[in-house]
Amino acid sequence: MELFRSKVIRVPHGFPSRHGGVSTGPFASLNTSTSVGDDAACVAENVKRLAAALGAGPEWVATMHQVHGVTVLEATGAGEGALPPPVGEADALYTRAAGVAVGVRTADCLPILVEDPVGRQVAAVHAGWRGVIGDVLGRTLDRLVQTGARVDELRVAIGPAIGPCCFEVDGDLPQRFEAAFGANVVRRVPGKPRVHLDLAWAVAESLRRRGLPEAHVDVLPHCTRCDARFFSHRRDSGLTGRMLSLIRCAF
Ligand SMILES: [Zn+2]
Repeated sequence: MELFRSKVIRVPHGFPSRHGGVSTGPFASLNTSTSVGDDAACVAENVKRLAAALGAGPEWVATMHQVHGVTVLEATGAGEGALPPPVGEADALYTRAAGVAVGVRTADCLPILVEDPVGRQVAAVHAGWRGVIGDVLGRTLDRLVQTGARVDELRVAIGPAIGPCCFEVDGDLPQRFEAAFGANVVRRVPGKPRVHLDLAWAVAESLRRRGLPEAHVDVLPHCTRCDARFFSHRRDSGLTGRMLSLIRCAF
């Protein structure tokens, strides 16, 4: 297993590559989604391995049914069975329950992990372009503040996702992103007619505006589409697995 960690997060966490699991074919090998066509027993074994890497059993892994929305849910305790069902339909999941690990599944979208050392909470957030412009992370931070967090103490890591090198968009998206985040979010790549967006930069900018110290925000450098170690929805034309990034409430 290959688990990428952020220097700004101190609790157990990790952003996995696709390697180190038991799934085969397009899901080889550490796929963690049962809704892409993979065998559920393989998915359960993969989640078990990831949980073990964080020192937990799979019943401590809380996930959500992700829908590209902005709903924030709380995981209140351990689940049941080898592959606990999702806590609910949401794109951000936080917990204050000691031992629980919250997770986010991605294959190009941004997996974002948040540590709140003051309120002793952690969160996992899923953000594609809809989640970035809808500010699902901002809603998550608002919720954490309601339950004891201090914004200037929060620590946020943005994991491997499609980079500005590969995230081509068209229509009115460039204008919408420029209006929300400023001109720097739009990138033009020589020889490519379409405009590229830097989603991770947009999220980092939103955190700067909220007052998070620069030293508390980390953007991991990997592009999931360029780097074959990761599942990529765009590169694999939709038939691929999902990586499960996790952060555990262990203060
Ligand atoms: Zn790329």
